[in-house]
Amino acid sequence: MDIKDITFSYDRKTDCLHAIHAVIEPGRITTIIGPNGCGKSTLLSVMSNNAVPRLGQVILDGKEITRYKPKELARQLAVVHQQNEAPSDLTVEKLVSFGRMPHKTMFTASRDEDEQAVEWAMACTNLSERRTSTLDQLSGGERQRVWIAMALAQRTPILFLDEPTTYLDMYYQLEILELIRQLNQEHGLTIVMVLHDINQAIRYSDVMIAMKEGRIIANGRPAEVVTSELIQAVYGVEVIVRQDEEAGMYLIPLGVGVS
Ligand code: ADP
Ligand code: MG
Repeated sequence: MDIKDITFSYDRKTDCLHAIHAVIEPGRITTIIGPNGCGKSTLLSVMSNNAVPRLGQVILDGKEITRYKPKELARQLAVVHQQNEAPSDLTVEKLVSFGRMPHKTMFTASRDEDEQAVEWAMACTNLSERRTSTLDQLSGGERQRVWIAMALAQRTPILFLDEPTTYLDMYYQLEILELIRQLNQEHGLTIVMVLHDINQAIRYSDVMIAMKEGRIIANGRPAEVVTSELIQAVYGVEVIVRQDEEAGMYLIPLGVGVS
């Protein structure tokens, strides 16, 4: 996917993305980091054609994404949004089956394929045994897995996840990140996600993109992107970057406002 000079504004006055340029490498995990309000979710919206940029284009498989039909794009790209809501009395299986919508047409009734995709999505996310549970019977971690399963049922080669670990405890955070890694490694999915935890981003990403105030400040391998200078510039936080034999590279925040 090529992101070419994307400039976007919600109100046609103030731009909140400024000439964003990046290439999303297929088969990789790319993580976007940056402070609240810097434009991460907006960029994902533009990249999934949920928001139309004022300038620039997003090219997927040689074609501008605004030129895809909605269902056609939904077979290429699935999004797990930052906030998800659904009636709490729907079952897991029912919700996951909504992911099949883009594949349904008036003329083809491929029920087997639908069922297989839903089964696969529930198996991947370890929800098969919870299929008859309703949303309000699930834990936070399970609920997040339902949203991921719904996206997986779309059977797309590309998956976007906006803050998939927010509000989860450490165990569930790692569970989600391990799942994402597995989807990438075993099923070859191209992943673009937004994370707040830089150490998790370092650990689970092939590529990191750091944003600030609607601009990309750094883009590269985690070791290239995560330096104390970059973190100071992007977050205004003083950190030290360390290397551990077992854990690899990691960051320790020291404080704010120090420069
Ligand atoms: P992030 O995901 O990095 O926290 P967002 O992409 O949500 O940031 O927001 C970027 C900027 O756009 C912020 O200033 C935010 O207030 C603004 N914004 C986000 N969504 C809307 C919207 N629907 N209408 C108007 N402004 C918005
Ligand atoms: Mg956001």
